[in-house]
Amino acid sequence: MPRTLSSLKEIPVTRLAGVATKKAEALGLFDPAIETVFDLVTHYPRRYIDRTNQAMIRDLAVGEEAMVLARVKRNATRRTRQGRALVELDVFDGSSYLRCTFFNQGWRGRQLPVGTEAVFFGKVDMYRGRRQMTNPVVDLIGDKTGRIIPIYPQSEKAGLTTWDLAGLIEEALRRAGEVADPLDDEWRQRLSVIDRARALRQIHAPDTMGDAREARRRLVVDELLRLQLTLVMRKRAIEREAKGLRHEVEGPLVERFWASLPFRLTKAQRRALGEIAADLAGPHPMHRLLQGDVGSGKTVVAVTALLMAVQGGYQGALMAPTEVLAEQHAIVVRRMLEGLVVNDPGQSLFDERPLRVELLTNRTTAGERSRLHAALAGGDVDVLIGTHALLTEEVAFSSLGLVVIDEQHRFGVEQRAALRGKGTDPDVLVMTATPIPRTAAMTVYGDLDMTVLDELPPGRTPIETSWARGPMAEAAAWDRVRAEVAAGHQGYVVCPLIEESEKIQARSAEEELQRLEATELAGLRLALLHGRVPAKEKEATMAAFRAGEIDVLVSTTVIEVGVDVPNATVMVIEDADRFGIAQLHQLRGRVGRGGAVSYCFLLGEGATPVGEARLAAVERSTDGFELAEVDLELRGEGTILGTRQKGRSDLKLANLRRDKELVARAREAAFAITEADPKLRSRPLLAEEVRELVEPDEADFLFKS
Ligand code: ADP
Ligand code: MG
Repeated sequence: MPRTLSSLKEIPVTRLAGVATKKAEALGLFDPAIETVFDLVTHYPRRYIDRTNQAMIRDLAVGEEAMVLARVKRNATRRTRQGRALVELDVFDGSSYLRCTFFNQGWRGRQLPVGTEAVFFGKVDMYRGRRQMTNPVVDLIGDKTGRIIPIYPQSEKAGLTTWDLAGLIEEALRRAGEVADPLDDEWRQRLSVIDRARALRQIHAPDTMGDAREARRRLVVDELLRLQLTLVMRKRAIEREAKGLRHEVEGPLVERFWASLPFRLTKAQRRALGEIAADLAGPHPMHRLLQGDVGSGKTVVAVTALLMAVQGGYQGALMAPTEVLAEQHAIVVRRMLEGLVVNDPGQSLFDERPLRVELLTNRTTAGERSRLHAALAGGDVDVLIGTHALLTEEVAFSSLGLVVIDEQHRFGVEQRAALRGKGTDPDVLVMTATPIPRTAAMTVYGDLDMTVLDELPPGRTPIETSWARGPMAEAAAWDRVRAEVAAGHQGYVVCPLIEESEKIQARSAEEELQRLEATELAGLRLALLHGRVPAKEKEATMAAFRAGEIDVLVSTTVIEVGVDVPNATVMVIEDADRFGIAQLHQLRGRVGRGGAVSYCFLLGEGATPVGEARLAAVERSTDGFELAEVDLELRGEGTILGTRQKGRSDLKLANLRRDKELVARAREAAFAITEADPKLRSRPLLAEEVRELVEPDEADFLFKS
């Protein structure tokens, strides 16, 4: 019987020939530690060097990124005037010399003595008439020969060369033997992949770059398929396990709410509500993601869903990631539901009482909180809005029917489950205020059904965004603010983002208000809004702004969500390069809500190339999904997936940008495989991999019958 891949986790590296304590210790210093044969064979090369096709130093152009294989000829360490270590190397590759300079990396002097051969990867620049690389990435290769050299991720602490690693991995592969393939011929053909054992050999020791690509494809498909199987099985398990409430989706509350809206729902909103209503009325609990761009009208959809639950006698919960967002939601939802009544037989004269929306955050006082808990348990609260505070143990509903989570990928699967656990299989609607690319959505939210609001309400005029670089452009931005106010419109100034603390942020916003009052916006009616303004005052300020008694709201990112004043037509975002793309797009969505042309000015220089690319993208496009793609491009998937996904899943090779097509194919395959065999009974090897490699914590839940 060939070994399975996951069984290689049971063979410690010390069982390999040539691995004595010292080497094992070195392997243990990797992050994550390399402890088993499995860890070794899945320690994949980060890249390859094709010796027959090497860039020569002689041919390098300034400004280009390059990788050269060269030998250290001179090694000198100095101190800068600030006392920082400065290591200077001159390296030679037979064609020419290159200077490599390392700041603050004193250990490089010891790592790279004269005579060492290494690969240097970095951007070529010109310094005092000489080509050089500053802080290049360095890979020691030892004396490996052969045409294609795998370059392994290394650890500074471990001090093993890529050659050492290659040797160990070769030994590990020998020990592993022909590992079993969880995909049969048919599936290998359908997915156009080579077999597993060959892929493992070939990724480490390819004869050609084509071989390396072929091997990578197979191993990427494996990673993605395991992950998709987990997600799809989680989805099916929930459907199978749970009874599901059947909500009364048609009823007077929803009708009255719709009748009170000053607009008609968009086609996209109606389609979304159709899908949600079908889920709510159906036998399985809903588990759905609602994605939509800023301003696409997610709130109305979420509130309708909550009312569908409430009109059948259930309670609804809406959980937001921050207090400010929860408070904003509470304001908006209360305003929307003002005047609606619910049936309450026997309790009041007309068997009716006003629909009750409550807010619970960490700012809720102890007294209020206990009153709230009682009202909630007694069924007197219909909709509870709040933060993580909703998850605490004392919060008990009398009949929780629907959970809406506004999450911006900040809540984890566990937290969703915790809130769900406060009812008996309530329905769950997850909203993302930030669109994410399809492939990323399939990976992060692959256990949910998906609804996209792909249409903005009519009458929106596109927002003209300009990146105001330099004093002239900034002056023009402030001119525009005054002009808009003179024309009877209103505006926002968003103050720079300060990470340190809400307190410092608040103070800096206050100072900015004073500065603007004395300079650019002198004579206008300004008001301040930030996270530390007391709730009452905040509400009063917002009310005054809505009523047009304030011209310009100077604020922190508090206004990111929830604020909705159609007469506001201009926004200035200061130090815009401090914000991420998604946040800029969210902020900008506060204008352009009425019929008039709106403007958004991004101030700041875009301190880094990535910062520049972000501002340029936001200036160029107002399409949230397009911006999300750019964001993924710029940030890499690590940030999108979050540590939770990246850390726990076994995506070592797969890359959501490069492997888009494979994500989709793996998902289709996962559906097809589990359709026929929901618990993978006939595919024990695949079942074992899901169990052992993806979600050990959750395996029981997925496989229990
Ligand atoms: P999102 O949360 O998706 O960014 P909101 O739910 O805050 O968007 O809605 C944005 C604005 O559009 C709000 O002023 C809302 O009242 C309005 N709106 C929502 N749906 C419609 C519609 N169908 N027609 C016109 N305006 C709408
Ligand atoms: Mg919203």
